[in-house]
Amino acid sequence: MKILVLNSGSSSIKFQLFSMKNDKVLAYGLIEQIGEPSGQVKLNSIHHKEPITKTLHIKDHEEGIEIISSFLIDEKIIKGLDELDGIGHRIVHGGTVKEPELINDSVLKEIVSFSALAPLHNPPGLAGIKAAQAGAHKVPQVVVFDTAFHQTIPPHAYMYALPYELYERLHIRRYGFHGTSHQFVASQAAKELKKPLSKCNIITLHLGNGGSVAAIRGGKCVDTSMGISPLEGLIMGTRSGDIDPAILFYLAREDNLKAKDMDTLLNKKSGLKGICGTNDMREIMLGIKNGDERSKLAFDMFCYRIKKYIGSYLAVLGKVDALVFTGGIGENAVDVRLEVCSGLEAFGIKIDKSANAKRGNIHVESKTSNVKILVIPTNEELAIAKQTQHLIQQIRA
Ligand code: AMP
Repeated sequence: MKILVLNSGSSSIKFQLFSMKNDKVLAYGLIEQIGEPSGQVKLNSIHHKEPITKTLHIKDHEEGIEIISSFLIDEKIIKGLDELDGIGHRIVHGGTVKEPELINDSVLKEIVSFSALAPLHNPPGLAGIKAAQAGAHKVPQVVVFDTAFHQTIPPHAYMYALPYELYERLHIRRYGFHGTSHQFVASQAAKELKKPLSKCNIITLHLGNGGSVAAIRGGKCVDTSMGISPLEGLIMGTRSGDIDPAILFYLAREDNLKAKDMDTLLNKKSGLKGICGTNDMREIMLGIKNGDERSKLAFDMFCYRIKKYIGSYLAVLGKVDALVFTGGIGENAVDVRLEVCSGLEAFGIKIDKSANAKRGNIHVESKTSNVKILVIPTNEELAIAKQTQHLIQQIRA
């Protein structure tokens, strides 16, 4: 079975083609700056060591899909897109939808209806779906929502203490994001714990340029740090995470800040970048080595916020089997893991300094730690491919 996974942004399409027989990636690539005068194309396949790169004008997502299709045909991986067994799409906001869905007209309408909640993310995702449908109209297409895994969160955790009417009329509530990643690493963690996922309590930390924490009880998500949008919660690369909302009223009065400026301020100019000028954790570590105080402050704030969430989710879950680190920072930043876990010994969370320092180690807890500390690489694309395959097989059966 061959499944193509597409992740479409406003001017980009990221793709991976999987052979589901052995979960092997046959081809992958990234098309960027769609609609700009010089679009960038980077294509890789099992037949090449180095990626094929091109610079050319790519009119729209449909032309992007044509580039991917021609590449896969030229590489003799498929004869045409219609040969694919399925296409899986990552869509950021799925409202209260709990499961992946086979795309049809009513699902498309559903995605449009969630666009008000994710105006930057859902419309480009929709453009990617329409382009893929035009290029491969015979292939079943599935949508996997980033919000789906969090839809088991109970009302007392997903409601904001605002007038109830706003929840009813505008659907203002916590939805959570990175769900595919939290679900994927939680199920990998259960394998490490040698227990069924339904018997595991886990705190998963997805720490990349965006970051979120999930509290998982018996395999089901019961709370997460992101909210109605991916802005709430942890300090991220360029996003503030939790702040006192009164800061915005103050800025509106003092600096005449408008809604659009607030959006840019909190999403693009804040977080690590806002504090020390870069959102790259590698540069921050280098800055600390060179004695840069702002880098140290950004690092300390970042780790402290994570620690506070771990504390609150320990209280939510009562008993925790594992703490899981994933994402670019979670998987690679040894010092972040060390700092986050330091001081949590009284809760049975004890990290082993030398195990933590060794790249590729999954278990980084000490022998006396009650809670396992795991470093598990996330693979959202493979998770989407598997969910797409599962749904298509269910429908065929
Ligand atoms: P992601 O969004 O998951 O790709 O993660 C991006 C983040 O991971 C950036 O902040 C990078 O600086 C960080 N990152 C990637 N590799 C490393 C590394 N070796 N050490 C520290 N941070 C890293």
